[in-house]
Amino acid sequence: MNRLRLLAFPASAVLLIIAQPPAGDEPRDADKAAAATIKAADLKKDLSYIASDELEGRATGSQGQWLAGEFLAKRFEELKLEKGGDGDSYHQKVDFTPRKKKKDADDAPASGPAAKPTTKPAPVEVSNVVGILRGTDASLGAIVFSAHYDHLGRGRADEKGDTIYNGADDDGSGTVSVLALAKAYSSRRDKPKRTIVFACFTGEEIGGLGSKAYVTTPKVPLEKTLCDINLEMMGRSFGIGEKRAWVTGWDVTTLGPILAKGGKAAGIEIYPDPYPEQMYYYRSDNMAFVSKNVIGQTVSAGSNHPQYHKPSDEVGLIEFDNLEAIVRAVYFGSARIADGQDEPKLTGDSLELKAAPRKKKPESAPAK
Ligand SMILES: [Zn+2]
Repeated sequence: MNRLRLLAFPASAVLLIIAQPPAGDEPRDADKAAAATIKAADLKKDLSYIASDELEGRATGSQGQWLAGEFLAKRFEELKLEKGGDGDSYHQKVDFTPRKKKKDADDAPASGPAAKPTTKPAPVEVSNVVGILRGTDASLGAIVFSAHYDHLGRGRADEKGDTIYNGADDDGSGTVSVLALAKAYSSRRDKPKRTIVFACFTGEEIGGLGSKAYVTTPKVPLEKTLCDINLEMMGRSFGIGEKRAWVTGWDVTTLGPILAKGGKAAGIEIYPDPYPEQMYYYRSDNMAFVSKNVIGQTVSAGSNHPQYHKPSDEVGLIEFDNLEAIVRAVYFGSARIADGQDEPKLTGDSLELKAAPRKKKPESAPAK
């Protein structure tokens, strides 16, 4: 999740549409078996590497992020996904010019006293990591799962002297969820009807660099892309309680209610973004798709926590059993789309978020 950049929003408000899943939404046995491959232990194992100190916070253009990208590509290869990057590769190169570091009050992680020397950063490849699972019916188009695997790198020390911004929740949690979904779909007995693109984006924290590059040169044409289901900060239940997840831009399309049907199957309540004043709809990689008139929305959970963009966003705070259930919910909901049972559609005439922020502050839950 990046900092709030977009402040303008239309004033007209629309009523919330509450998901009312009809009867008969029980997943098929093949889907139950696929969802069962999504395991807390695997999510933990993957995240323990992605968010380890060894990767130094995965700043875009850093060695740590490069290592993370290699790890993701290797996992896609193990799952035998089609290479969705440049040439015969999972890596889609993204143009990146390391910016000169300067004093900036709004840029604490990059300019703190403990920041690494910034002269001549070694050039490393900056890329999205993209794998594709072809569906059985090309005419039905594709869906994208996305998460950003970059984070803030090293920066200003916190009160414990920690200088590594591990980004376990932001967005290590979404990244390992994409891996788990890739495993679930590719291990399913029958292939999905729609093509599925698994995209781990770079550069989200510095303005959505990777997702913007993806929508400029997508491997599956955007006209054939039904939606981007972006996964961001799903590893905590802070402030909302367990077995719950929310979707940004709920009022704009029917994607949220479709995912909520899948939530029911996994014992997860999926509901509208409870923090409209934060404008989260506009603050992640889903926006790159929206900017190209493709449905793009973010699934998140207890992301409004005190460790947001702090070195203390660490693996130890991630609730893996809860994350497992949320990823299974996303699986069940998305499978409805992947198999052509449901199709997300606009509820109004544009992808612009029309709901005015509610004044009421969200309820705060006991601190974890
Ligand atoms: Zn972030």
